[in-house]
Amino acid sequence: MTDQDGPALCVFCRRQPIDPGWRPFCSRRCKVQDLARWAEGAYRVPGEPVSPDGQRAAPEPSKPFNQA
Ligand SMILES: [Zn+2]
Repeated sequence: MTDQDGPALCVFCRRQPIDPGWRPFCSRRCKVQDLARWAEGAYRVPGEPVSPDGQRAAPEPSKPFNQA
């Protein structure tokens, strides 16, 4: 029983139909929450990600771009 004939649903809440102004989300709220979730995951990485190069991405302190 798959009902995929309806309108595309918000990728975050998967309940509300996508609002063209907030694609692929249904609202600003879902977009913000989705971004927040991504940011959270970026800061709290479960385990150590192993890159193909064998290099670990060290968290760099943000430096001013115009540093000499
Ligand atoms: Zn939504």
